[in-house]
Amino acid sequence: MKLIFLGPPGAGKGTQAVGVSAHLGVPHISTGDMFRSAIRNETPTGLEAKRYLDAGELVPDSVTIAMVRERLAMDDCKNGYLLDGFPRTVDQAMALDQIDPPEAVVDINVPDERLLSRLTGRRVCGKCQGTFHISKLEDEHTCPICGGELYQRNDDQPETIATRLKAYHDSTEPLIDYYKGVTEPRLIEGNRLKTVNGDTKPEDVFKNILASLE
Ligand code: AMP
Repeated sequence: MKLIFLGPPGAGKGTQAVGVSAHLGVPHISTGDMFRSAIRNETPTGLEAKRYLDAGELVPDSVTIAMVRERLAMDDCKNGYLLDGFPRTVDQAMALDQIDPPEAVVDINVPDERLLSRLTGRRVCGKCQGTFHISKLEDEHTCPICGGELYQRNDDQPETIATRLKAYHDSTEPLIDYYKGVTEPRLIEGNRLKTVNGDTKPEDVFKNILASLE
C-alpha cells in the first residue's frame, strides 16, 4: 500500500507510522528523519537543509523532492511506502503524483492548543529514534525501549514551534483539499483523504487509522 500521513507537527505521525508501517509491511519514510541524518553525516543535502530545520522553515521543494525521488526508487518501496512529513506543499504533492502516487492520505487531526505542550515535552531517542512525552517517562534522559540517551530536538523550542505551525497552516493545510480532489489542477481523480482524530489515546488512534484504510 502507498500511504501518506498528513497532520501538523506533534500530531503523532511519527509514533503512529512506526506501528502502521510494521502492520502493513511497508517502509516508514520520514523526511524529517532523513534530513536530521543528512545533517549529522554532513552530506551536501544536510549542509543545505540545516538552516531551514534550525529555523523551523520548510526545506526548498527542489531539495526535498530530489531526496524523496531517490528514496522511493529503492528496492524496499516496491510494495509501497508510508510517507511521514512529505508532501508538505502542493508542489511536492504534485511531484509525488508524478513519481509514485499515494492511494490513501491519512490526516491526523489535533487542535493547535494541544500541539505546543506535546512538542515542548517531546524527547527523542538518539539510538532507536523512538519519541516519548516527558509526562510518561520515569527517567527523562533514558529511552524506556532500548536504554539509549534521550534528547530534545532543537526545533522543539517554543519560538521555532510557532514558525513550524505557521508553515503547516500556510503551506501544508491546502493539501487537505488537494487530496479530497477538489482543487485544480487534478493529476489524480477522486477523494484519497481519510480524516482521523489524533487527540485521543495512541492505541485508539492506531485502531482508527487501520479502520479508515479498510
Ligand atoms: P519533522 O521531523 O517532520 O517535524 O520535520 C522537521 C523539519 O524538517 C521541518 O521543520 C522542515 O524544516 C524539514 N522538513 C521535513 N519534511 C519536509 C518537507 N516535506 N518539505 C520541506 N521541509 C521538510
